[in-house]
Amino acid sequence: MSRIAYVNGEYVEHAKAGVHIEDRGYQFADGVYEVCEVWQGKLVDGPRHLDRLERSLRELRIDMPMSRAALTFVMKEVIRRNLVRHGLVYMQVTRGVARRDHFFPLQPVAPSLVITSKSTNPRAGDKQAETGIAVVSHPENRWPRVDIKTVGLLPNVLAKQHARDQGAKEAWYVDANGYVTEGGSTNAWIVTKDGVLVTRPAESGILKGITRAVVLDLVAREGIRFEERAFSLEEAFEAREAFVTAASTLVMPVVQLDGRPIGNGHPGTIATRLRQEFHTASHLEEIR
Ligand code: PLP
Repeated sequence: MSRIAYVNGEYVEHAKAGVHIEDRGYQFADGVYEVCEVWQGKLVDGPRHLDRLERSLRELRIDMPMSRAALTFVMKEVIRRNLVRHGLVYMQVTRGVARRDHFFPLQPVAPSLVITSKSTNPRAGDKQAETGIAVVSHPENRWPRVDIKTVGLLPNVLAKQHARDQGAKEAWYVDANGYVTEGGSTNAWIVTKDGVLVTRPAESGILKGITRAVVLDLVAREGIRFEERAFSLEEAFEAREAFVTAASTLVMPVVQLDGRPIGNGHPGTIATRLRQEFHTASHLEEIR
């Protein structure tokens, strides 16, 4: 079976799918995206991802390409056509196609919409979570509007590749004051040596992760001691445990930071529990 992509109104063979060379996403990274998890044949947290998509588009003054209901329908259709039971669905909206010019097009153009979906092996993620991942610190070098989920991800690509070159899976950005902001494609959390779960407020400096929001619901429900504040790299070195969150990794324990073990060097109990219970707090929607 060949993979299928949705591109501007058509379901096409993934290998042959393409956009125009003057799409502003291609030329200026003038677009935004969302990634949702597909779990046991269900779309995970679709409404929250659509809320964030709408917000990202509003910030860039790009119109929604279609209604939320229609977008949800197409997402599910792409998942269905690709026979994805466990995996991810990717949705990208750009300002559209226009003759190359930095200014927004004078004549309104239709936003471009691409949706793809791929299967992943859920056991691989769970297996990784049993041992945890290593992260390395990296100076914050992104633009200040990281709250908008734009496709302009080159700094993230370079930071994550730097992590891989060091034998790690993720980079943790550290701002000019020595505070961790977030990962290259994840939000960052620690449990302090006093047992308090800490993550940075999403007001500035980070993307307001959907997985982060669901974990916060879970933390409140479970009565876990929690503080929403910035934490420094130094505090992270001293932490009892650490983890990252994203729709693509869920809750993933971090066991090493810049080559130094976090806590006892094994996944922590809070991270492991939050990972196990994640889907009890997420919004699940049948694909069919
Ligand atoms: N931070 C960044 C920079 C990301 O790219 C992502 C996900 O792609 C996240 C955080 C986590 O967001 P979510 O939980 O919505 O996947």
